[in-house]
Amino acid sequence: MSRLEEILAYNREFVNNKEYEPYLAEKYPKKELLVVTCMDTRLVELLPKALNLKNGDAKVVKTAGAMVTEPYGSVMRSILVGVSLLKAKEIFVIGHKGCGMEGLRAGSVLEHLEEHGVTQNEIEAVREQGVDLHKWLAGCANVEEGVMNSIRLIQNHPLLPQEIQVHGLIIDPETGELELIHDGRK
Ligand SMILES: [Zn+2]
Repeated sequence: MSRLEEILAYNREFVNNKEYEPYLAEKYPKKELLVVTCMDTRLVELLPKALNLKNGDAKVVKTAGAMVTEPYGSVMRSILVGVSLLKAKEIFVIGHKGCGMEGLRAGSVLEHLEEHGVTQNEIEAVREQGVDLHKWLAGCANVEEGVMNSIRLIQNHPLLPQEIQVHGLIIDPETGELELIHDGRK
């Protein structure tokens, strides 16, 4: 059975057995939180458990390295929708130890893409459109700096309401322990 078939078969059972019932929730975040975190596989279940977040408690925006780099990109749009229409009042930017975005260079991403059939010509064509691939595909020097850069971009955004607090934290992807690196109340 392929992964797709496996998931679709499981899903039919899940719905038929009404296993969704414990997860029924409102679309507004009950705890008025919006979390920006990494897409790392180790955080899928661990992060909500370690923060005591249940379905319906928070909005969660996932992006590699919890890096918010474009003031008018889709991540920032999600944040603005979250704090306006969806009524989140505090933003938690949560990076994690051992993040793959730490020290990531565009060159190694491009090398992998080339191994999967992307050609030099296609890469050049993107460059010719004015995209600075080395900047766009790069990670952060370290996770703390990545989180702090995201916080600065969010906090200084002209469309972010003043009263929104933006906190910065680092989570341990094994133990779930949080380290506070920026207290948005101050
Ligand atoms: Zn990560």
